[in-house]
Amino acid sequence: MSTLYIGRFAPTPSGYLHFGSLVAALASYLDARAAGGRWLLRMEDLDPPREMPGAQDAILRTLEAYGFEWDGEIVRQSERIADYVAVLTRLYDQGLAYACTCSRRQLEGYAGIYPGFCRNACHPQQDAAIRLRVPNLQYQFTDRVQGEFRQHLSHEVGDFVIRRRDGLFAYQLAVILDDAWQGVTDVVRGADLLDSTPRQLYLQELLGLPQPRYLHVPLLIQPDGHKLGKSYRSPPLSADQAGPLLQRALRALGQQPPPELQGCPPGQLLAWGVSHWDVTRIPRQRTLAEAELR
Ligand code: GLU
Ligand code: ZN
Repeated sequence: MSTLYIGRFAPTPSGYLHFGSLVAALASYLDARAAGGRWLLRMEDLDPPREMPGAQDAILRTLEAYGFEWDGEIVRQSERIADYVAVLTRLYDQGLAYACTCSRRQLEGYAGIYPGFCRNACHPQQDAAIRLRVPNLQYQFTDRVQGEFRQHLSHEVGDFVIRRRDGLFAYQLAVILDDAWQGVTDVVRGADLLDSTPRQLYLQELLGLPQPRYLHVPLLIQPDGHKLGKSYRSPPLSADQAGPLLQRALRALGQQPPPELQGCPPGQLLAWGVSHWDVTRIPRQRTLAEAELR
């Protein structure tokens, strides 16, 4: 097996897997296996208050029922905190990050872009959020499906939180540290994270970490226009629908499973998907209406 390609699926156990997560898992799995690469599983359990009891187990059982086989041990972010602390301390000591004591109310009316009130305040770290100073620069990258993507960090994002006031680490920091630590070469995930990528590129640059290739697949939208996400209580994937839902997920990714595959076990559908994987067929859209899938 080649180590030239290392991919991963990184679910957050705030809820069960739903159809949108299946599409993301399937895309990362097929892309990795078609390249003869490894496919890792990482539990992004950074936020205990928002974790749903039993979700980690349910996610693993669902992945198994859908025929996914991952390589190596499952990494849990809750076991990686010491690394996050070390890097955060370094960024803070070097003045690249700073403590912010602004309340939610003080930040109202800034459209999510932090106005920099605490940039030069030298607050102590305790009881404060830690924000990363962003440069006045545009970051860009070429997504394997979405093409060129650009974002100006200070105009469109602002100094962003890497450790929350309650002491929990932010996704943006943890994800790039873990991808680098696990040797991930290829990030394949939902297009809702396209907007996060320039922040991640900046962090990688700052910390001297390699930059993986990126592929963002369309996000599935429910008929009412809501993002098909856990917060909208979309139905959990049921084990007995594995066959039909895998075929549907293949079609969402533009792949064309032949009718003969109907009724085949999940492992065979995945094997077909690996041998026929065609990235050029993935729709170049950020969102896809689930209702339009046959
Ligand atoms: N844990 C994130 C999620 O469930 C995905 C992180 C990633 O793939 O970079 O949305
Ligand atoms: Zn502040």
